[in-house]
Amino acid sequence: MRFGMAVSATAVAVAIGGMTLAARQQPPPQGQAQGAGQGRGGGRGASTPPDATGECPTGMTLVRVGSCQAPEFPPPSIVDYRPKSTLVTAAHLVPKAKFPVVDIHSHTGPSAQTIDKLISEMDALNIRVLNNLSGGFGDQITQKLAYIKSTKYADRFTVFANGLNGFNNVEPGYGAKAAAQLAADVKAGAIGLKIFKQTGKDTLKKDGTRLKINDPELDAFWDMAGTLNIPVIIHTAEPPQFFEPADMHNERWLELSLFPDRRNFGPGQVDFKTLIAERNDLFKKHPKTRFIAAHFAWCAQDLAQCSALLDQNPNVTLEVAAVLYDFGRQPRASRDFFVKYQDRILFGKDTYAPVEYPYYWRVFETKDEYFDYYRDYHAFWKLYGMDLPDVVLKKMYYLNALKVTPGLPQTGWPK
Ligand SMILES: [Zn+2]
Repeated sequence: MRFGMAVSATAVAVAIGGMTLAARQQPPPQGQAQGAGQGRGGGRGASTPPDATGECPTGMTLVRVGSCQAPEFPPPSIVDYRPKSTLVTAAHLVPKAKFPVVDIHSHTGPSAQTIDKLISEMDALNIRVLNNLSGGFGDQITQKLAYIKSTKYADRFTVFANGLNGFNNVEPGYGAKAAAQLAADVKAGAIGLKIFKQTGKDTLKKDGTRLKINDPELDAFWDMAGTLNIPVIIHTAEPPQFFEPADMHNERWLELSLFPDRRNFGPGQVDFKTLIAERNDLFKKHPKTRFIAAHFAWCAQDLAQCSALLDQNPNVTLEVAAVLYDFGRQPRASRDFFVKYQDRILFGKDTYAPVEYPYYWRVFETKDEYFDYYRDYHAFWKLYGMDLPDVVLKKMYYLNALKVTPGLPQTGWPK
């Protein structure tokens, strides 16, 4: 919902309640305004036509065709406007996933202080494996792996490596060194590679230029991941709305206003299309390396693009973290997509928050309608369930992850 729409709902409500007062205090509207105000429930305030693009002036909303009007009450801001739904419909909360789950996209790993709590939370949600993408490299990842191995839950936690030195100051020879580091980290027990969003977007080479994700210097590194038979989960770009100005038409206005570091539309910043094109070129250049495009490759708002990506790149799978709001607002198209590409989608959550996982289970498993998402600033709209078949759920929850990531514990899963 945009600012204008929030005002619109309020305007209609207050126009009805405020009619007597408005009629007493204001002279009858003139000309065009009169037509707008005469219908049942119509407001009595002054009316203005929309401009040539169909937009109402600031502070006004369309009340009839060709007629904009300001609400009588001071409109609440989108921060404060939280209407309570009066829809009464069946609700099926899903505290525990129907089948065991691999969370391929986490940044949480266990420690002596947290492991017992983590295990009990994971058991309650039916998460069997939590995969920590923030493994680091060298000593860092070796220590994380050694701790996991020392516990009685060694088959519940896995770790991905992160390359070498955050891809800073890449110069000739870096690719070979990073490839050797990756081989060592996998030998130590890493079961995949994670590439963070800074790489390809903000990270600079030694010569001061931006390191493009498809830079030939990294070719040996990507090929090594293929040779080691590990997947590369890659986060490239951000939601497309983060690359657009934070104006009254931006779906993510509130989020962009809350978090300065999510604004990607400033001067000198790389645009969305360029980043996506460079990433897709990387996928094409390394057909023997398996890539997991994090956050559904940032195409969940345009599923035809996701189809093209998967059709053109058999080495690519998608992962669902942090884009639930896009599946939940188009449950029928999403269901069709998940059924068609049921072998190409993995489960991931990103932020580890036990109270948030059940929203995913509910969208994937039920056909509930019009329910809240857990973060207002991500999505002002409501979610709907996709009612996915069991066979598709099982593939997304664990079977696809086991195939794409051979280093995951492969035994003990339901048949
Ligand atoms: Zn992440």
